[in-house]
Amino acid sequence: PRKFKIAITGCANDRAAIKVHDIGLVVVQNAAGETGFEFWVGGGLGRTPVIGKCINPFVAKRDLLSYSEAVLRVYNMLGRRDNMYKARIKILVNETGVEEFTRLVNEEWAEIREGYLELPEEEVQRIRDFFAPPAYESLEADPPEFMEKLDADPAFADWAHANLAPHKVSGYAIVNLSLKPIGGIPGDVTDSQMEAVAALADQFSFGEIRATHEQNLTLPHVAQKDLYALWEALQALELATPNVGLVSDIIACPGLDYCALANARSIPVAQMISERFADLKRQHDVGPLKIKISGCINACGHHHVGHIGILGVDKKGTEFYQITLGGSAEEDAAVGQILGPAFGYDEVTDAVENIVNTYLKLREGPGETFLQMVRRTGVTPFKEALYETA
Ligand code: SF4
Repeated sequence: PRKFKIAITGCANDRAAIKVHDIGLVVVQNAAGETGFEFWVGGGLGRTPVIGKCINPFVAKRDLLSYSEAVLRVYNMLGRRDNMYKARIKILVNETGVEEFTRLVNEEWAEIREGYLELPEEEVQRIRDFFAPPAYESLEADPPEFMEKLDADPAFADWAHANLAPHKVSGYAIVNLSLKPIGGIPGDVTDSQMEAVAALADQFSFGEIRATHEQNLTLPHVAQKDLYALWEALQALELATPNVGLVSDIIACPGLDYCALANARSIPVAQMISERFADLKRQHDVGPLKIKISGCINACGHHHVGHIGILGVDKKGTEFYQITLGGSAEEDAAVGQILGPAFGYDEVTDAVENIVNTYLKLREGPGETFLQMVRRTGVTPFKEALYETA
């Protein structure tokens, strides 16, 4: 294959954008309580955005390699080689049809299933041991030192509300470090910040740090009783912006600042939008909203699956930005719908603000998220608001 990307998510909430990968795996349990994988193929972004298709609701662990090999064999035999842009499994699945593709995979799988690719239980156990959980303490959930700080310090409470996720172990939390300071370059972190985060991971999170495709970092296991001390340290490092999942938590590709393929700048557009929504209270009022920006159709900024997607286009040597609405990279994955004519560099921030204001005006209360509203109303009210005032 020319290039081939595999993503895996461990639960029903997709945090790995598995439906826009060549192969996407969801860890599931069958009726007998055995763990296996829901198997998706043929997703992808770029110039041909496609949401993947589920071709098998349960592949047992022992069969994971042989089933994956069967998929790759079919792709290798039938995939397009005449055109670089069509040399992707998503093109093959679309051209073949998902039913026929699945039939071909199963036919191939029957040939190799019992062979050397069967994953032995000892190997599964070796992998399991490698990823053994850290030595958690036995802790009470929501300890007083955490709950009291939540009550006493609104800035800490805002951060906890936006940047923490529940941990499966009592008394622990998952901490997302925002690399999106207001007006900053999305995803940038300095060497000294990284050194400091590494030390904090040693102190508070069993030495573990994860980098996310959302261009943030995660400390996966922090005791709730330590959260306030961690937050104070992160504040000093300017890594405690309470905006994870909010309007200024923008994904942006390098764009014209340093990508040779770009049509338009991405980073300064992200910075302008972030500054426009600098008021964190306003961001929290708006609620979950993912903006994703790509500087060209290669879609490295995942604009197709942004709730608001922004694509840089070139019009006679001038940067313009096409806006899409309603995309998602999660379990409800969807490709966004183009709103209309593109906006100039100096207009795109106003356009995004107009879209957000339209949502605030028309939503059925704060319980209806931006994405839910776009799905309820379609893009028409946004289009009307945008192009009538443009
Ligand atoms: S989307 Fe285009 S401009 Fe952005 S990094 Fe990818 S190739 Fe470069």
